[in-house]
Amino acid sequence: MTRIAFIGLGNMGGGMAATQAKAGAAVAAFDLSAAALEKAQGAGCSPVTSAAEAVKDADIVITMLPAGQHVRAVYANDILPNAPKTALLIDCSTIDVDSARAVSEQAVAAGFRFADAPVSGGTMAADAGTLAFMVGCEEADFAQVEAALAPMARIVIRAGTAGSGQAAKICNNMLLGVSMLGVCEAFALAERLGLDGERFFEIASKSSGQCWSLSTYCPWPGPVPTAPSNRGYEGGFATAMMLKDLKLAQEAAARSGATTPMGAQAEAMYALFDRLGYGGKDFSAVLNLMRGRLDALN
Ligand code: NAD
Repeated sequence: MTRIAFIGLGNMGGGMAATQAKAGAAVAAFDLSAAALEKAQGAGCSPVTSAAEAVKDADIVITMLPAGQHVRAVYANDILPNAPKTALLIDCSTIDVDSARAVSEQAVAAGFRFADAPVSGGTMAADAGTLAFMVGCEEADFAQVEAALAPMARIVIRAGTAGSGQAAKICNNMLLGVSMLGVCEAFALAERLGLDGERFFEIASKSSGQCWSLSTYCPWPGPVPTAPSNRGYEGGFATAMMLKDLKLAQEAAARSGATTPMGAQAEAMYALFDRLGYGGKDFSAVLNLMRGRLDALN
């Protein structure tokens, strides 16, 4: 039986660890939150009292933590000093490229194999085992990384060497943030011009304006029943999370010298929406800021 240490059992990690247990792995689970540990136990994982204990005889170590500083600390204090050198180390958190590369270098210097493997898909996909993984690792390690992620995945794609998974993730999410704002602006203008929202959706989703933010995740309530716009913009992908990813993209752009003016605008818009108190709402709720109808969210 494969022994997996799973560290970080929040909105995403909880579902992912459960999926691994369901697929037959022995999952030693750790989180700072007692409630998360209890939930993991109910889902077939074995809760432990520290990250060091979780990794001590693991075949695979998976982390799903909030940000770069958490991943750096857990790797330096718990994983690298305590895991067997044979363990395959995979970080699935969304973090900055520099932290991913730094952790990779430390892991490799200590004799481990490491992959950064951030995900796309959100909590529903985490629960269902249908996430998309973008992987940065050595080519020789990819088959094993892919097999380790398979129970949680719809697709696993290698982006390149260490840090490349994170690079792909922030580029993808910058594109998502920009495209969502474009779709929201179009609906706000359509409304002002007297167009019916459903009719505009029907036309744009069959015309050159078609994109994922419109046809799969429509911010205008109605045309796409599964979209968060139909449940008061609850659940889904929080504005605060989108803002975090847009900040990571802008930091990476500044460091690499890339010009990303639309990404900068998207960061500013989401920062404003977050500051207005809507950080917990799905990121498509920004439509109501553009409509001048924040009252629709209260
Ligand atoms: P979350 O805040 O729900 O979960 C993070 C968990 O990590 C918490 O339970 C927290 O207690 C735990 N934690 C923090 N420090 C720890 C430590 N030192 N040791 C053990 N546990 C610790 O966040 P989430 O929504 O599950 O997101 C996790 C990561 O996945 C983030 O990097 C996020 O950007 C990324 N992500 C989230 C989504 C989404 O839709 N929520 C989608 C894709 C990627």
